[in-house]
Amino acid sequence: MSTTDPLLNSTFRERANEQLANTFLRTAVPKATDHAVATLRNRYRDHDYDGLRELGREIRERTVSDLERYLAELIAAFERNGIIVHRAADAAEAREHIRRICREEGARSVVKVKSMATEEIRLNPVLEEDGITVTETDLGEYVVQLDDDRPSHLIAPIIHKTKAEVRASLSKVAGRELPDDAAELTGFARGELRDAFMDADIGISGANFGIAETGTIVLVTNEGNGRMCTSLPRTHIALMGIERILPKMEDLAVLLPLIAGAGTGQLITTYVNMISGPRKPGEPDGPERMHVVMLDNGRRSLLGTKYEEALHCIRCGACQNVCPVYRQVGGHAYGWVYGGPIGAVLTPLFRGQHDGGELSQATSLCGSCDDICPVKIPLHHLLLSLRHDRTAAGEVPRHERIAATIWSWTWSTPLGYRLSARMGRVGLRALGMRRTAPRWSGPLARWTQGRAMPAPAKRPWHRRAR
Ligand code: SF4
Repeated sequence: MSTTDPLLNSTFRERANEQLANTFLRTAVPKATDHAVATLRNRYRDHDYDGLRELGREIRERTVSDLERYLAELIAAFERNGIIVHRAADAAEAREHIRRICREEGARSVVKVKSMATEEIRLNPVLEEDGITVTETDLGEYVVQLDDDRPSHLIAPIIHKTKAEVRASLSKVAGRELPDDAAELTGFARGELRDAFMDADIGISGANFGIAETGTIVLVTNEGNGRMCTSLPRTHIALMGIERILPKMEDLAVLLPLIAGAGTGQLITTYVNMISGPRKPGEPDGPERMHVVMLDNGRRSLLGTKYEEALHCIRCGACQNVCPVYRQVGGHAYGWVYGGPIGAVLTPLFRGQHDGGELSQATSLCGSCDDICPVKIPLHHLLLSLRHDRTAAGEVPRHERIAATIWSWTWSTPLGYRLSARMGRVGLRALGMRRTAPRWSGPLARWTQGRAMPAPAKRPWHRRAR
């Protein structure tokens, strides 16, 4: 990783503090994510959404627990369909495969569909080093690229930006002041991107799912850019995490509404592209050649471990929408590609405890992420497990270790628990909370700005129970 890697150059606390100073982010992110969650709940009010989630969980569990078999089936089906398959053990190998294909094609211009996997391997700088013009064609990703920024949400990359910021970025490209109107701004970007589609030698996409039965890549988008990138250029390269497999086409009937519903509250996304190989003789459109790069990059190492369920993730972003930490600090605070609860799980698993381990502390363990996850990943259990691993790896600061040891020792005996509870009660009384639930003042005031510290009960629970 380069030295510009935020995960190596700063702590979560530093990054979070920086983001917390952004008052727009702290109102815009909760507003946008609340809307997505409310739409989901309204849409499925009269449906058995939990039953659908259970079906999704069962499909993902069955697939991932037998991943090597489905992977072999998928690769065989891809090859039957004329797709050239490449295997990448890590990010460097994936980048090299894609760079080599671009060189062989003599590519000067590449268009891309939004793909977190390509963010994960940091693809764009490598292609740009070769003099290739890379254009992100998802509107949000296009703005991220113009600003030399990073996406801050799995499906809403510029959730952290104001309309004025977007307008300023697009105005720079236009060389004039664009009107303060979302439709006009989008229209301008559409015009720019249309030229990029027409000029591109290669289209690069990710893959939401790969169907083992038929050798089909499935892309779900709400902009038409996915279809343009995968059908206009003469070559299409898809980068796919090895876990993003569904055994059969019928499984898509479950996973499509789940990914659309959990992500944006839609029953189905505006575009669902199913791509089963390059253009066949007699077909009027589609690429002449198609490659799929199968990315491992740490995924296989989770198979058969207590973290295998992290591979069930379908990257819908719903856990980010409900996470009280993400909603305040946004995606950049997590320091790598994936933010929110799933980011706090995947980052230490893919990057190691030393780089990403502290993210397991970036959670209130409220369990909201578990409740909304469309494939029922027990995120907060995984986060707790990662905290244990972090302690075992000696990555926890000494003062935290000492405090936790004293706490554990004290609460391991009834006497210790009662004594400490009594001391706490005395302490809270001393803070003036005997009968009321006031807001704190002084250095702790900010904590009670949005919540009231409950006053201690007159008779402790233990005494009443006795
Ligand atoms: S963990 Fe669940 S909710 Fe979060 S992105 Fe993955 S599938 Fe969606």
